[in-house]
Parts: sequence; C-alpha cells; structure tokens
Amino acid sequence: MNLVENRYKINGTDVLDVCHEFGTPLYVYDADKIISQYNRMKNAFSGVDLRIKYAMKALSNISILKLFKKIGAGLDVVSIQEAMIGLKAGFQPSQILFTPNCVSIDEIKMGVELGLVINIDNISILEQFGHEYGNKVPCCIRMNPHITAGGHSHIQTGHIDSKFGISIYQLRHVTRIVAANNIRVIGLHMHSGSDILDSSVFIRGAELLFDAAAEHFKELEFIDFGSGFKVAYKEDDITTDIDELGKELSSRFNEFCKLYGKKLQLWFEPGKFMVSESGFLLVKVNIIKQTMATVFVGVDSGQNHLIRPMFYDAYHHILNLSNPNGVQRVYTVVGYICETDTFAWDRKLNEVREGDILAIQNAGAYGFSMSNNYNSRFRPAEVMIYNGKAHLIRKRETIDDLLKNQVEMEF
Ligand SMILES: *Cc1c(COP(=O)(O)O)cnc(C)c1O
Repeated sequence: MNLVENRYKINGTDVLDVCHEFGTPLYVYDADKIISQYNRMKNAFSGVDLRIKYAMKALSNISILKLFKKIGAGLDVVSIQEAMIGLKAGFQPSQILFTPNCVSIDEIKMGVELGLVINIDNISILEQFGHEYGNKVPCCIRMNPHITAGGHSHIQTGHIDSKFGISIYQLRHVTRIVAANNIRVIGLHMHSGSDILDSSVFIRGAELLFDAAAEHFKELEFIDFGSGFKVAYKEDDITTDIDELGKELSSRFNEFCKLYGKKLQLWFEPGKFMVSESGFLLVKVNIIKQTMATVFVGVDSGQNHLIRPMFYDAYHHILNLSNPNGVQRVYTVVGYICETDTFAWDRKLNEVREGDILAIQNAGAYGFSMSNNYNSRFRPAEVMIYNGKAHLIRKRETIDDLLKNQVEMEF
C-alpha cells in the first residue's frame, strides 16, 4: 500500500474507495504482492527443481487458491476439507500434499482415495498405512529433526515436546516398519514451525534429512523442507534472507543429490511468506474513548476477525487511511468483542477521529482463516485487487448464515 497524493493506493486502486464500495470490516488482498513473493522464492531457488506447495491454511479463499494455481504452485493441506476445496479450485490431486496431524487412518484413506500425496506424521499411522497399502501407495514421512526456530511458543513445532512429526531419534523404528511392510517412501519432510531467522537452522535440519535419506530411503523423489519463513511485521524486523537461504540450501541440496545418485525435487510449503504482506484488515473507528489512563480507539472489528494480536502477541502495524498527515498521538486500538480484545497497545497513529478508516497490516496470513462468529458477529467480506481492479471474493455474512445449521426447537 502506497501513499499517493494523500490517498493510500494498492496497485493504483484507492483503498478508501474500496472501503466505501464494500463496507467495513473488510479484508483486502493485493494479488501483485502474492505473485511477487512467489517469484522471489522461485528466483532464490532457481538452481534446483523447486516445487512450491502453498500452505492454504494461511488463507484459503478459493479465488486466492485459483491465483496460486494460475502462477504454478501446488498446495499443502492439513485436512481433508482443505483438500476438497483445493480440488474444487482446480488443482490435480498429485499437486496436493496432505499433511494432517493426529487424524485417524480413515481420514488418511480418504486422502488416498482422492489421490493426494500422503504425508505421515506418526508411527501408529505409518504402521496402519503399511498394513493397508503395503507398497501400492507411496507416501512421504514427516520427521522432526528438533531444530528450534524463533517465534511465539504456539507456532514452534520442532521442539522435543512437539506433537508434530516423528522424532529423528525414532528413525530406526521407522525403517523397521517401512521394511516390514515394504512401504514405498517417496518423500521426506520437515516443518519446524514459524520464524526461522537464519539459513543455518534450515541447513542443520536438512543435513539430518540428507543423512536419513542416504542411508535408509532409496526411492525418494523429493525432500520437503516445510516452511517457517519470517516476514517483517515491524519496520526493522529481521526476516529470513530468502536469497541467502536459496544459495546455501540449493548448493548443499545439489551436492546431496550427486551423492544420492538422483536429481530430487526440493519442496517448500510456505503460507505466511506468500500471503501475509498482501493482506489488510480495514476497520472503521466507532468510538474514541478517553479514560483516566489512555485513549482507546474502538473499531468495528475484533479478535473474532483477527486473533493474532491476542493469540500470539503479534504486532500488526496500523495506518490511519483517512488522516495520513494528522499529528501523531498515542492510542490503544481495541475491538468490539466482549472479551479482552486489543489490536495494539500504546500505538502512535496519525490523529484518529470517529469515522476514520484504519488499515491493520500483514493480515493476509491467519487472518480470515482463523476468524469466527463469536458474539454472533458476521465475518468480514474479502476483496482481491487484481490487475488494478477490486474483486469481491467473499460476500459479507448475513443473519441467515449465522442461523443456517441451527435447529429450532418448539416450546
Ligand atoms: C502451517 C504449516 C505451514 C505453513 O507455515 P507458515 O509459517 O505459514 O509458512 C507449512 N507446512 C505445514 C505442515 C503447516 O502445518
């Protein structure tokens, strides 16, 4: 979003105009930003056979998925329902990696029936999968190399107490089950959770997968390094240097492939990196409330629409779109939900007045997809700016949506 002659614009489209057309609260996504992030990653790994599997749980609107399909991505899905939406968006089953956690064998079987690439994340399912399919259906195995990344404890998955993946220390057990059932393992996978700051963390995890691959898995077609790319939320935030990572991991990967005797595909499954910065939650200021201690800005949205500040302590930068040149004052921005509901504490904003439109930035990932109807509020509408034009990609809910599956008893 850029300030052009006192108006905020996305790719030439005036954001306040979009707001007036579609109302607030409103999620707006900049398709160009998604495409440029995708190309950044592709270029950084131009030296290997890279496959990008967009982790759709970050933002799962079907029009967003179709955009990813158009630019050549595959999908990473964590539930059979996500897979069904992905198929509806036009992806081939073979382009979809199914990486669920703690699901029953029944859901895995549904994935097999749909033709997805199955990623197995625990020993019990690996054993049941082997009994069921032997070597008839290939699979990928999710290992946990216990590399720890930064980030809030809710999003770390690599630590020793994590429920994700099969510990690298259980490799011997894994190979016994694979051998006993003649399971065809075509992929090894790791995903160490969010906020990997330097490439050495990836490389350490990669080395462990390379060792396991070279010694125990001779039929691999790909290695999947998951995600964990950090994007900037604040101005000076350190982010994953994708170009440096691309250089280092690619050269290490190519060395490994030589040793392995086969050119494998290198997979990633970024969510946040692809869509976070493309998204804005636009809200209207309902109330300015001066208390003894602070000035609250009360807006027409809340943690039901963007839970990251409350759930992860996440910082989201906020702009006052209606008053870009106002003097800066300190505010606490809160939502309208009857529950602790703060978007930003002690935040400097250009003077805020009732009726102003604020843009909460970096709201593309885990924004709408984690939203809910608490307090019986409607979820926001969603708009994508594509080729300089605003397209409605999700209608605002109505009272009928809230009542749709409720069964009314008569008394
Ligand atoms: C959530 C998830 C991702 C995406 O993580 P980001 O931090 O959003 O990039 C990738 N792979 C798996 C298996 C996931 O569960």
